[in-house]
Amino acid sequence: MTSHAAIPYGRQHIDEDDIAAVVAVLRSDWLTQGPAVPAFEAAVARAVGASHAVAVNSATSALHIACLALDVGPGDVVWTSPISFVASANCALYCGAQVDFVDIDPQTYNLSVDALARKLEDAHSTGRLPKVVIPVHLAGQPCDMQGIAALASRYGFRVIEDASHAVGASYQGEPVGSGRYSDITVLSFHPVKIITSAEGGMALTNDPQLARRMAMLRSHGITREPGEMTEAAHGPWYYQQTDLGFNYRMTDLQAALGLSQLAKLDGFVERRRALATRYDTLLAALPLVRPWQHAQGRSSWHLYIVRIPNDGKAGSHRQVFEHLRGQGIGVNLHYIPIHLQPYHRARLPDGFSLAQAENFYREAVSLPLYPGLEDADQDRVVAALEQALALLQAKS
Ligand SMILES: *Cc1c(COP(=O)(O)O)cnc(C)c1O
Repeated sequence: MTSHAAIPYGRQHIDEDDIAAVVAVLRSDWLTQGPAVPAFEAAVARAVGASHAVAVNSATSALHIACLALDVGPGDVVWTSPISFVASANCALYCGAQVDFVDIDPQTYNLSVDALARKLEDAHSTGRLPKVVIPVHLAGQPCDMQGIAALASRYGFRVIEDASHAVGASYQGEPVGSGRYSDITVLSFHPVKIITSAEGGMALTNDPQLARRMAMLRSHGITREPGEMTEAAHGPWYYQQTDLGFNYRMTDLQAALGLSQLAKLDGFVERRRALATRYDTLLAALPLVRPWQHAQGRSSWHLYIVRIPNDGKAGSHRQVFEHLRGQGIGVNLHYIPIHLQPYHRARLPDGFSLAQAENFYREAVSLPLYPGLEDADQDRVVAALEQALALLQAKS
């Protein structure tokens, strides 16, 4: 046993000016629906080059209102990646639509554009084309968005980027969120992500109508703009419900934290990138697969995922995982393929299977990675991993 504290796989980085920003809101007139939310929206939109931003209480909510704004409903199908958090798929079900999955690329672990093209060809012949495709930038590495956009215009589907991991990432030299190749981009500010607002999310778009629609859905489907009402205002008190919306609002406390964190985004990503490069070097000689990076993208390094090849020995991946956890190294697995979740499996055809996603699941381990991870902590992770792999080899 070691006497060191446990190392988590990820954690937030909060300093005194983040705390001061939240306290300032507590002393102000507004805890919610004040000036901090629009300020945070404007700052994120400016940082990524998007025209409109709608802040909400989570990325899950953002995915929901993004699907609704694109008219996803009963009878529609939404496609996404199986290697993601369940929220990327659940948004379709919230709208009464069905969800289907496209297998991953074995190098990037993102939704495979080749698999997407093949599946679209089949769907075209059976008349079951998706209304929306949701590519997920796993670990912060951008998907092949140009390839996806080309298929979107050929087959007529809309695109929502789930960029929950990719705040601070770029693709073809432009920040993720610019919306060049999609209709809406969704960000998450959960504490484990790149920047945090405690809970929080945002939907970015360059389409003013989609932005307007999402802003209404965020707050009960209610408007106070006379131009958006179907009848004359009854008086100065009047507001009108024009759609069935929700209370998905972000508070000013959260927005103030998010805004303060945004100022540190570049530093956070730089530190994550340096740690990833350091892992690459330290792990180079070990029998595992390190993350592969596509030349067109620049990852925000939300996750550092290695694959422990099984070589047909069932259980070796689990042994490595358990050994590391036993040493106080908070490894994790991103993700259990969504189509293997019983809730989703029950809604998919019998025997539905995706070979690449399932191979990935048998081998993947996320190593600790966050801005506050010290080089010495990282050395401890590498030493424990080395030991775990040596134990495996001794057994075989
Ligand atoms: C974290 C995450 C979400 C959900 O984010 P919340 O802000 O917690 O709702 C959705 N998709 C992906 C890929 C995520 O990692």
